Amino acid sequence: RSTSLTNHTMTQEFSYFAPGPAKIPEEVLRRLQEELLCHKDTHISVLEATEKTVRELLNVPSNYRVVFMQGGGTGQFAAVPLNLMARTGKADYFVTGSWSAKAAKEAAKYGQVTEVVPRGERYTGVPPTSTWTLDPQASYVYYCANETVEGVEFQSVPEVPEGVPLVCDMSSNFFTRPVDVSKFGVIYGGAQKNIGCAGVTLVIIREDLLGNPLPICPVVFDYTIMDKNKSLYNTPPTFPIHVMGEVLGWVRKEGGVQEMERRCLEKSSMIYSIVDTSGGFYSTVVEPGSRSRVNVVFRGLLSLKGHRSVGGVRASLYNALTVKDARRLANFMVSFKEQHGA
Ligand code: PLP
Repeated sequence: RSTSLTNHTMTQEFSYFAPGPAKIPEEVLRRLQEELLCHKDTHISVLEATEKTVRELLNVPSNYRVVFMQGGGTGQFAAVPLNLMARTGKADYFVTGSWSAKAAKEAAKYGQVTEVVPRGERYTGVPPTSTWTLDPQASYVYYCANETVEGVEFQSVPEVPEGVPLVCDMSSNFFTRPVDVSKFGVIYGGAQKNIGCAGVTLVIIREDLLGNPLPICPVVFDYTIMDKNKSLYNTPPTFPIHVMGEVLGWVRKEGGVQEMERRCLEKSSMIYSIVDTSGGFYSTVVEPGSRSRVNVVFRGLLSLKGHRSVGGVRASLYNALTVKDARRLANFMVSFKEQHGA
């Protein structure tokens, strides 16, 4: 638990390793405080400005639409099948952790869901390519790029049968590395981890996938209607969209998604290397090739007799967490081991 690391007031420097809602860059917070006092932007200019930055940072091709929706990642668990399942009535799901398991369960309400790989006892990594079975007739293939709970991350985009759209939940690693958007049919993510605060979900959709929702699709989840109305079919969550625009502006200023990727690697490898060199004091069950660069999940104290009920630890190192924050945790882990190690 990181209580002793987070138990500071906002005015002091603090390191906040929560899985989300997460910290917002302090520089952005200060600007928002000032802007809240004299907020003049209209809905339209806020949406346009944020979309522009999204397109710029991820190099979004012109045949993709950027839509701001509500309902969070969980809303998208339903929106994806409601908008894409009509083509063949079936879809393939990679189930690599708790979030993709929930998405698959939700999608099964709207069509036939097949799990690409049979489920193991626990989620410890992305199964090897040789074990995947992908249906060329699937309406789409779905995966979660970073499983926030288990700390399992895909390190590359899975290859799928030609013509089958690839759908990806990037809620916890959006804008933490470059992404080739052209490989995807749909990418989505809630804002509250790397790109802002809760209340808005960013959805990027290839335009040829519009226009074929299931008849029961609610209007607020309908990609086609939302896109046609430029995310203004109903009242948009303007403030969270504005915060997203500000946070992404900060990402751009700091060096873009390439720099966020470099920092994620620096922060996470700092923690993993302490785990790996701790002689078993700290441990992780996540396979080395699938270790998340944003949610480092590990266990500690296993070498201490008498502590049978120790739960795991998770350090979430989203974009707003600095290298200095990670170093603080690393130093804490080292001195904790010195004090309590056998
Ligand atoms: N997908 C992933 C990878 C998540 O980490 C989360 C939330 O933590 C969700 C989906 C659910 O998102 P929401 O809480 O916005 O519904």
